[in-house]
Amino acid sequence: MSYSPYDLMQMAVDIVNDSPHPTNKIAATISGAGPDGAPYALARTNGWPAPIAEKIGMDTDIGNSSGTVHAETACILDAPKTKAAKIFITDPPCPNCVKNIAEAGIKDIYIDHKGFDKDWAKRRGDTFESMALRMCERSGIEVYEIWRKEQRVEPILEIFKGYSPPLEKPARAVACAPEAYEEDLIAKAHKFYASEPFALAIAHNHDGESIMISAEPHLVIGYTSETDTHEDGKYSFALEPVNRLLMTAARKGLTIDPAYLYSSRVPSSRELVNMIGAGLNQISIGDTQSARDEFGPRALKQLVDAGILNIQN
Ligand SMILES: [Zn+2]
Repeated sequence: MSYSPYDLMQMAVDIVNDSPHPTNKIAATISGAGPDGAPYALARTNGWPAPIAEKIGMDTDIGNSSGTVHAETACILDAPKTKAAKIFITDPPCPNCVKNIAEAGIKDIYIDHKGFDKDWAKRRGDTFESMALRMCERSGIEVYEIWRKEQRVEPILEIFKGYSPPLEKPARAVACAPEAYEEDLIAKAHKFYASEPFALAIAHNHDGESIMISAEPHLVIGYTSETDTHEDGKYSFALEPVNRLLMTAARKGLTIDPAYLYSSRVPSSRELVNMIGAGLNQISIGDTQSARDEFGPRALKQLVDAGILNIQN
């Protein structure tokens, strides 16, 4: 299987009108090598995860987040392994997707030239320039504009060969015994992270081995807490712990065991929506009174009340 960048972009263009979103129809293709080394390519649109579409509907926000998963993030959540993968997008990516793309270890972004002409892309052009591209530069992600018909690719952002971004507080991944006692792992992680919030999961690799993954909130790869700000208007440079776990699992080609996902506090609205998008429907929460903001607990209640998410104790 050997697809050109034009074929891979065409795969996204071919499905973009399948997007259930009434106004912003976006699609992406991800292409890389799976855990067994076999090449893959898959395409996804933006849209509502099935349980949210069916049980809550498309007109209701989940906490302060839309109920949709963006096309780029949907690709990452469904890909067999995202480390060093390439992603082809019909539109310029939003800063939140770039954070996920960076954490998932994707190294190349291709954007269809038509995506820059759409009204909403023009309106959002400033966040693409000011945040998304800046984050790509720091994280070491090359960005290209692509013309399918003319079979032409031009770089928007090139990265110095040999650039390696500063890696502060990477997510942890540690092999663990299959019979690892979950509460023991959680107690140890509480000691390790001290007062920081964190998330922890047990995942399985391609060979069926168990790996414990855990993470605290952190700025996007390439940013360090000493020198960098955390926010720019509506967008934050930080990734929340559950989101980092989802992206870490994707990067390493791991499958999170739905029965073993733990968050020390109530996840944010966006973490919860992405979790559902990843097909996870159970979580244990250390302190249900603790949350980053007031929207997480509201989102949690909506999802639990709708029978989409179970809280385990
Ligand atoms: Zn996005």
